Amino acid sequence: MFSFEFFPPRGPKSQARLWRAIREIEALGPSFVSVTYGAGGGTRDLTVETTERIAADTTLLPVAHMTLVDHSVAELRHLIGRFSDAGVSNMLAVRGDPPGDPGGPWVRHPQGLTYAEELVRLLKDSGDFSVGVAAFPHKHPRSDDVETDTDHFVRKCEAGADYAITQMFFDPEEYLRLRDRVAARGCGVPIIPEVFPVVRTATIERSEQLSGAPFPRDLAERFERFGDDAEAVRAFGIEHAQRMCERLLAEGAPGIHFITFNQSTATREIYREVAGHRARPAEAARP
Ligand code: FAD
Repeated sequence: MFSFEFFPPRGPKSQARLWRAIREIEALGPSFVSVTYGAGGGTRDLTVETTERIAADTTLLPVAHMTLVDHSVAELRHLIGRFSDAGVSNMLAVRGDPPGDPGGPWVRHPQGLTYAEELVRLLKDSGDFSVGVAAFPHKHPRSDDVETDTDHFVRKCEAGADYAITQMFFDPEEYLRLRDRVAARGCGVPIIPEVFPVVRTATIERSEQLSGAPFPRDLAERFERFGDDAEAVRAFGIEHAQRMCERLLAEGAPGIHFITFNQSTATREIYREVAGHRARPAEAARP
């Protein structure tokens, strides 16, 4: 099972690039594609519009991300209704980070919700939605330790999550340890690993900002050895992502969710190499 993540476009050029990438990915016949939800402002409507258009104009199964940021429960209900009217019934329920400073204090909307767990319940009470949640192989940056992080993750699953997608990571052992911790608590929700290929050295720093987890030091050093040779960095990054996908699938991961950043070239290269490697049937992980 392979799936791909896009973000909503920010202008006409970005819109054209997104749709080129969507059409290229459509040709691969993925299990689903997901569209992220902006931290605030105008891109939120674009998430809804993009997801609606994917549902109406493509053969792809869209998954819409939703967050709690700056939303009252009434607004969340309205949003859920809009998705439902557009025939979108697969959602990824995440809390979101505070706009502006993602590491800043979390401020709940006065009539809103505090944890993703509550959005899972709201969605499940609102209709026949398939609901995914986020998982953090390293641990969520706000969590004190991996044990409480895992406890909170399991609560989210018990609230009704059907599957989870991880934060990006670069060491497959981190995914396997998370899966073992969750299984040890008796939780069988399928956890789909998210893969983000490093195609330039700047991606390393960006990945730390996005995930809040440290990039593995030994791997960073291997990238640094290529210096300014952009081609070599890209080739090594793609090979690393490919090996990681193969290992994860061999270890029984239910599939791979690729972050595309709306550029499909690198992920399609990795997909082509890895798709031959048979993933276990993972109907349970289908959103
Ligand atoms: P929660 O599950 O609510 O957890 C947040 C923190 O609270 C964690 O530290 C957790 O351990 C703790 N916690 C949870 N429940 C409890 C409880 N009952 N009591 C005490 N503590 C608790 N962000 C966006 O803005 N838009 C997106 O589209 C988006 N998509 C994402 C997709 C994926 C696959 C992932 C992994 C992340 C995504 N994010 C997105 C980022 C995400 O919103 C942030 O990482 C956010 O900080 C955490 O979201 P969560 O759903 O895991 O929150």
